[in-house]
Amino acid sequence: MSSLQEAPKEIYNLYLQTALNIVTYFEDESQEERLKELTDLAEVSAKLDLKLKKSCEILQRLSAPQDDFNGNQEVIDHAQTLEQFTNEIEGIDTDVNKHKKFQDFQQQVQVLLENTRLNNAANVNDDELVLTQNDINVIDPITKRRINDPVRNTVCGHVYDRGSVEALLKANKQTRCPVAGCANKNYLQLDNFQTDILTKRYLDRNPHAD
Ligand SMILES: [Zn+2]
Repeated sequence: MSSLQEAPKEIYNLYLQTALNIVTYFEDESQEERLKELTDLAEVSAKLDLKLKKSCEILQRLSAPQDDFNGNQEVIDHAQTLEQFTNEIEGIDTDVNKHKKFQDFQQQVQVLLENTRLNNAANVNDDELVLTQNDINVIDPITKRRINDPVRNTVCGHVYDRGSVEALLKANKQTRCPVAGCANKNYLQLDNFQTDILTKRYLDRNPHAD
């Protein structure tokens, strides 16, 4: 079960890594088309993901034993349940604007492209990348050391080192975003983390910078 739950997270990390590869290695006219194909694929995954999650919820609700007015458990009418299930899954809302990982994927690709275009326009060396308004922070807010494997909190956009934030959560599940002044007051959730490709590219290109 855990591998099934992990699957959507891994899929989006793969899509992000692929987008980074496309931007890095296809600096020609095919780049746009390749990114479009990848985005279409990511969108299909987002729709399937929404449908699967909602179907499980519906199935659980419909198959839960119900008490009748006398407090006795009603016998489930399987044919009726199946019909209701079929009707309900047809009406599932698969609006990908509500899929956080897909939204984050799109946003990251956009920022990466903008950053790449700015750098190309400025004609700078790889090791003096122009920083956009989204300043790249390579220091992990938890250990105060250079990030090794950057993950982004899709709720607030802050970036941490994967290892250190996972260790933090292992020690205490009720941990909030460690960045000072962060407006996100919810507890951190592993499920909300995605690879941060802009930071990843910067770290790859600047192995000694901090
Ligand atoms: Zn934050």
